[in-house]
Amino acid sequence: MLNRLIVVPDNGQHHLEDATKDAWGAFEVLIPNHPLVSIPVEHHPPYAHRIDAVAAAVPLLNRGLDQVDAGMIMLGERFWSPEQSSDDRALTLLHEAIHLRLADTMSPRTVRSDAMRRRFQDAEAAAFEEEPLDIAVFKQKRGVAAFQFHLFPEEVWAELYVRDHYPEWLERRLVSLLAMRQGTRARREAQLAGIPQPLICSWLIYELVRVDLVIALEQDDRRLAQLNDLKQEWSTDLLQLCPPERLEVELRTFAESIPNPLEADAISEARFDRYADAVLAIPPL
Ligand SMILES: [Zn+2]
Repeated sequence: MLNRLIVVPDNGQHHLEDATKDAWGAFEVLIPNHPLVSIPVEHHPPYAHRIDAVAAAVPLLNRGLDQVDAGMIMLGERFWSPEQSSDDRALTLLHEAIHLRLADTMSPRTVRSDAMRRRFQDAEAAAFEEEPLDIAVFKQKRGVAAFQFHLFPEEVWAELYVRDHYPEWLERRLVSLLAMRQGTRARREAQLAGIPQPLICSWLIYELVRVDLVIALEQDDRRLAQLNDLKQEWSTDLLQLCPPERLEVELRTFAESIPNPLEADAISEARFDRYADAVLAIPPL
């Protein structure tokens, strides 16, 4: 059971400890009925590593590794960007809080995911000891990419949770989801430059699945048109950079991954796990 919540800045940013406390406080004022309202909050020294996201949540298991004990929310550099309004920040914290609430509710899945995360971390450590550096880096990024596919159903469930439990925030959430997807498109060159060549196709597919998720939630025609433009642009990239014969068989079926209308139990965990396996099967160049 979720007993404690830890909220920290990432990347060793000690000077953001007070701001982190304030951000959590402001969130609790804006969304007083948030899903972790009864869980005691702790603020610790920052998380040592840099996260590649506005924020991230990780459930922490007990010693026996068979139950959720605590949850940690890490705030990334982009959380502090002046472009983030107080609503954006509250919505980000709501999203991460929902992840932890669901991780607690879906405890068997969370325990399985934790074991998978540890397997990836062990494989990564072994690769850095035994293999040339470029191969080890590739395997590390491949593991991260595969794990993202495994976790994707949780992104769907988290958005549905906002729709179903916080309808007064849904419109603002959809606006910020569109902005996030457009931001990723605007950073396209830098994003692609950071990805080892053999993983570019699966990265493009992951982004397309993320756009599809927002399309499945969206009701507004003007925003839908913008999302469909984004989908078209990424699809064109995919065709150019990844001719069909170079795509893993499982990854070619991605278009069916987000059902519409969207319901929580229509999301197939097994399908996303097969995507994850397909990514893990990608060989280094
Ligand atoms: Zn998420």
